[in-house]
Amino acid sequence: MSEKPVISIVSPAYNEEEGIVDFINAVADVMAGGDLSWELVIVNDGSRDRTLEILQEKSQSLEQLVWVDLSRNFGHQAAVTAAIDHSVGDAVVVMDADMQDPPALIPQLISSWQDGHQVVFARRTQRAETGMRRVGFALFHKFFRYAIAFPIPRNVGVFSLLDRRAVNEIKNLPESNRFLPGLYSWVGFKQGFVDYARDERSAGAPKQTFQSLFKYAFDGVLSFSYKPIRFLGGIGLLTAFSAFAIAVYFTARRLLGHEVAFTGFTTLVILISMLGGLILVAIALVGEYIARIYDEVKQRPMYIVQGTARDSESS
Ligand code: UDP
Ligand code: MG
Repeated sequence: MSEKPVISIVSPAYNEEEGIVDFINAVADVMAGGDLSWELVIVNDGSRDRTLEILQEKSQSLEQLVWVDLSRNFGHQAAVTAAIDHSVGDAVVVMDADMQDPPALIPQLISSWQDGHQVVFARRTQRAETGMRRVGFALFHKFFRYAIAFPIPRNVGVFSLLDRRAVNEIKNLPESNRFLPGLYSWVGFKQGFVDYARDERSAGAPKQTFQSLFKYAFDGVLSFSYKPIRFLGGIGLLTAFSAFAIAVYFTARRLLGHEVAFTGFTTLVILISMLGGLILVAIALVGEYIARIYDEVKQRPMYIVQGTARDSESS
């Protein structure tokens, strides 16, 4: 490499008017401290507040800032994907724009990259979330470790640095229900880790709803594992075997002349409702896989761009 490498920092932003300027300034400060060329690509994910105006204004004075405007709200993973797709750097730092991923960590990510790691994960040593969100994240990660068949490092999220080669491979993956932390490790290459303590967001409320986090959790498990289906298959087999044993037992009793019990209504009700419930859950789970297959088959783009700073440069 004779030319100086270019670092892209890419972030999604949805209704971040309260904190986005601080984030941009923090990144600019950190990068001004180094001697690398850089760009900051921020994707406006259909914000309903002034996020886009702020980005456009700010890019007048900060030439490294590149905004990309999506045509509506496509969600976190789609917005991150858009941001990665629009980056041009030799290494791409992916991070949220709410300061939960501290910009101060960028130099460490870069030095790990310069040491030869192509996928550098920022690994949380602690979380600042409290209450339901914290419990939810903890439960998900416990279950996730168990449920996936594919080794994904512990305590990592979207925050990372990717070498251009890894970025190109990820860009080539056609799947649209994405779980990026999984894909980072799925593409392989040499992995590095940088530890950090995750902060509270600096301003505003979390922008991902429980519903979207729930879907994200499902994407994470279902796109990296068949275990949930196998697990239900196991329960099905167990049930079938017990049914067979019970059948043999009662038939034998009847044939040996024992009385047929007239009580047992409670048992029947419980068994039937339990089995009914299990069957419905199993169908729903199959449905989740099928819904994802349907999504992929439709081949809709993950996001639609309404305009970018780069368009206005070239026109
Ligand atoms: N975000 C987005 N689109 C959405 C929701 C969130 O681009 O529909 C952005 C948001 O602006 C932030 C990042 O994704 O930069 C993470 O969102 P949030 O902090 O709400 O998620 P959490 O910290 O709860 O994972
Ligand atoms: Mg956040």
